[in-house]
This record gives sequence, C-alpha cells and structure tokens, in this order.
Amino acid sequence: MYDVVIVGSGYGGAVMAGRLSEHFKVLLVERGRRWTTGEFPKSLPQLASAYMSRRNALGLWAMRMGVGTGNAFASAYGGASVVNYGITSRPEDHVFESWPVSARQWDPFYERALSVLKPTSNPVGDSLGDKRFLDLVEPGRRVDLLNTIDWESCTQCGHCCPGCDVGAKRSLEKTYLQTAERNGASVALGKTLVALRRGENDCWSLTLQETGSQATETVFAKQVVLAAGTFGTLDLLNSERSVLPVSPMLGQHMTMNGDGASFLYNTPHSLSGHHGAPITTSVRIPFIDAQEKERTLMVMSGRIPFSMIQAPALLMAGAAGLLPGKTMGDASRDSLTKRASRRLRDLWSVTEKGAMSNTFMFKVDAEDSSSGIAAFDRHGRSSIDWPNYGEEPILQFARQKLHSWADSVGADVIEEIGSWPLMKNMGVHPLGGCRMGTSVHDGVVDEHCRVFKPSGDIYPGLRIVDASVIASSLGVPSSLTVSAIAEKAAEHLGSELLAGV
Ligand SMILES: Cc1cc2nc3c(=O)[nH]c(=O)nc-3n(C[C@H](O)[C@H](O)[C@H](O)COP(=O)(O)OP(=O)(O)OC[C@H]3O[C@@H](n4cnc5c(N)ncnc54)[C@H](O)[C@@H]3O)c2cc1C
Repeated sequence: MYDVVIVGSGYGGAVMAGRLSEHFKVLLVERGRRWTTGEFPKSLPQLASAYMSRRNALGLWAMRMGVGTGNAFASAYGGASVVNYGITSRPEDHVFESWPVSARQWDPFYERALSVLKPTSNPVGDSLGDKRFLDLVEPGRRVDLLNTIDWESCTQCGHCCPGCDVGAKRSLEKTYLQTAERNGASVALGKTLVALRRGENDCWSLTLQETGSQATETVFAKQVVLAAGTFGTLDLLNSERSVLPVSPMLGQHMTMNGDGASFLYNTPHSLSGHHGAPITTSVRIPFIDAQEKERTLMVMSGRIPFSMIQAPALLMAGAAGLLPGKTMGDASRDSLTKRASRRLRDLWSVTEKGAMSNTFMFKVDAEDSSSGIAAFDRHGRSSIDWPNYGEEPILQFARQKLHSWADSVGADVIEEIGSWPLMKNMGVHPLGGCRMGTSVHDGVVDEHCRVFKPSGDIYPGLRIVDASVIASSLGVPSSLTVSAIAEKAAEHLGSELLAGV
C-alpha cells in the first residue's frame, strides 16, 4: 500500500512527487516513456513517426481535435516539459480575481516553484533581431522571458520543441523528478491508469495497464493524485465511464489560453541568424474588453528550428504569393527586387540571405473568455469544442496589431492557421475543465485541489493537480502556474498525512 499514488509526470505530478517523496511512500505512474538526449525527432518525418497512436502507444506527442480547436500534448516522463520551450512566466494579478485564491496568497507557491525550476534569461538574446523588431513596432512594451534552459550548454538551435537533443533544457527529469527519485519514490513508466475505485479500508484501488498491451496490475493507495494533464484527467473522469461522479462543472470553462501563432513574412528586418532560439522575448499589450476589464495579451517572438524550415519556407512563399497589398511597405529600405530575390532564394535552399531570415514568428498567449467545453469522442477521448474561438475579441485585436506592424514595416502577414479555410485554431495550452472553485457549484476541485462530490462533500484522499484545475485563462504560458498550484496542494496534502487525517 502506497501513501500516495500520483498519475502523470508533468508539472503537477512532478512537483507532487518531488515534495511528497521526502516523507512518504510514493508511486509515480506515467503512461509514456523516458526520452533521452539524442532521441528526439530532428526532422518533420521523424516528428510524424513520434506521433502517439494505437500502433505507437509510447509515442511522444499527439493531438486532440475539437470543434473549432485542436491541441497538441505530450506523453513522456516529464510530461510536456520535455517538448516545451521552458518559458516560465507568471500571470498578471488581475487574472486571479475569479479564482478562490488571491494573487498575494499564491506568492509563496510561485516563489517555491521558481526556486526549483530556476529559469534564466538568454545571454545572447540582445544580439538577436527579435528584440530590435519588437522595440520598433511596440516601443516600451518589451518583456524578456526566462526559460528553464542551461544556456552554457545550449547551442541556440531552437529545438527545445520537439525536444532538446543537446541536454540543455532543464526539463522536469532534471529538477522535481530527479528529487523524487533521489528520495526513493517508485516510478512506473509505460503504465496507464485505466480504472480508479474507492476500495475497502478507506483506500483507493488503481488498475494500471502496460501502455499499448492488455496486461494489467492493481495497486492500492491511501491518497491518489490525478495529474494526467488536462485531456488525460478529463478522459479519466469522463462522466459516462467514471464510477466517480463529480461536480456538474466538469468540462466547463475550458480555455485555449488565447493560443495562436502567425508570421510576418519577408520583412526588411533581419532575425540575426536562424539559430538563436527558444522563444526568449515578448511584448505585453494592454487590452480592455467590452466589460471594461483589463486582459493580458502577450505576443512572443519565436522561430522555426532550422532543421525543419524548408517545408514551411515553401509554404510561406506560396501563401505570401496569394496575399495582396502588403508587399509595398517601406520601399526606401527594402526594394521590391530585394523582397522578390529573398523569396526566390528560399525556394531551393533556406539560407541567411533568404526570406525566412527576415521572417518573424509570433506566438500569442491571451486571456480569452474561457468559454470552451469538453467534448468526448466514442472512445471517451476529450477535446475542446469552441466553434467561434477565432472570433474572440482579444484574438481579433491581436490580428489587427499584427497587420498594423506589417503596414508599418512592409511585410506579408501569414495569419493564424485557424483563420485559413477549413482549418482549426491550434494550441498547446488546453486548460481547465476541472476548474478550481469555492464550492461544487463553481468548481470541480477546491483551493487545495480536493475533488468535490456532487453533494458538495469532498472525496477523501483524491486530488486533481494539473492544468485542468486552472480556473480561467492565464494569458501567459501555463507551466509555472501548474507548478505553483501543485506546490500549494503538496503542502496541504503533506500536512494532512503528517497529522494522520
Ligand atoms: C509543444 C508545447 C510547448 C509548450 N511550451 C510551453 C512553454 O514554453 N512554457 C509553458 O509554461 N508552457 C508550455 N506548454 C504548456 C505546458 O507544458 C503545460 O501546460 C504543462 O505541461 C501542463 O502540465 P500538466 O501537469 O497539466 O500535464 P502534462 O505536462 O501534460 O503531463 C501529463 C502527463 O500525464 C500522463 N498521462 C496522461 N494520462 C495518463 C494515464 N491515464 N495514466 C498515466 N499517465 C497518464 C501523460 O503521458 C503526460 O506525460 C507547452 C506545451 C506544449 C505541448
């Protein structure tokens, strides 16, 4: 019998395992496998082969497509930390106005998470063209980012996503999970939780299946922490299959975190090398919504890893050919001949002289209205349905901004893929669905991540600690907030266990 079984090894699960393994007998269960330096996909075909499917159950990543939206997620030891950019960012205080815990009450937990994750800024960031460009189009609004990267070993190849192959990223196996292992936590990799039941003697029984096979085993625990990520946890709690009825808020108020990516193609301004970057800088632009409420719009500047750039270069050259109007721009600095020759160069080989060297990728995170709803397919797999997501006022405002930047410098805008015919808005921050609330009427979990029964009582010994409990859109990348939520939940669960509750 374990004191605590934690399901999922992303930010929520890793923090819980790192903290609780100090004093208690912990088992950490992860559906995916350990990915080591050198193994990550290095080209688009390799990325396609790493897709998780029934035939490739231990794949690295997958997507969930809903109405109007699609989201990528990871399946690996360390969760999405192994495939993300390691951007570590705290939301603005006003975000917490609709949460049961105020911004100031979260302070110590953000501090605790930061003291372990130790994000730092890119020392070569100032030599990159991204900062100069943002200063030109949005003077005074630049906010440089902190990433969980060891910059001394970083080769600036931009391959943090889909996985660092030089071992420079400080993903969770190097921080919280390493602590858990050192503390003696048991780790079951390639094991999927398929059933959870409240057993006799106040304990939980968990049926674990070897990922991709039919072999099962059962383990028992006093406390269970579901940290399977937004979709993983929703799949497990899906009301039709679950023997654990929860709040009617299940699957409500989901957010895409305003996710989107667009390009300013073939500008007169250089990126200063295709190398150089994870996403390391941004601007925060104030947006006031129809209710006069301030909302965060964060536009981050990034780039496509050079090893995967040829196909996007061809696609963009094609797309820009169809775009009218913006090519005239600031002709004094950038003649039409120069623009045309940069585009042509990229058609056979992308070099520092081609259009991609002058193309900025902008990744947006924004405080959307959190109006997505969980949908489940016939296999019980969750996704987010949000038919009009792309028309969210803050996203329209972001698009206007991008066009105004293009007008001011002379560039083509290649808009968010969701605005193309028959395409969906794609994201990597599916959040909510088990939102944190003050009671069963507005939440699936309480401020300590304990799960409400439909009666309003709390399930003894059950917590959800992952991105699904996020109560509203953050407007900034989500991993630090998931970590802070887990730090708070770990403190509470630890003190309950010590007190013998
Ligand atoms: C490509 C990409 C880039 C991103 N970039 C950033 C960034 O730079 N900065 C940032 O802050 N955020 C970023 N994010 C988002 C951030 O990584 C996530 O919000 C965060 O990882 C969520 O943590 P989590 O604990 O909810 O779950 P996850 O990290 O999603 O981990 C959940 C884990 O649970 C496992 N699991 C699921 N179901 C089961 C089951 N039944 N049994 C056992 N195990 C199970 C999964 O395999 C997975 O490993 C990015 C995400 C992606 C996909």
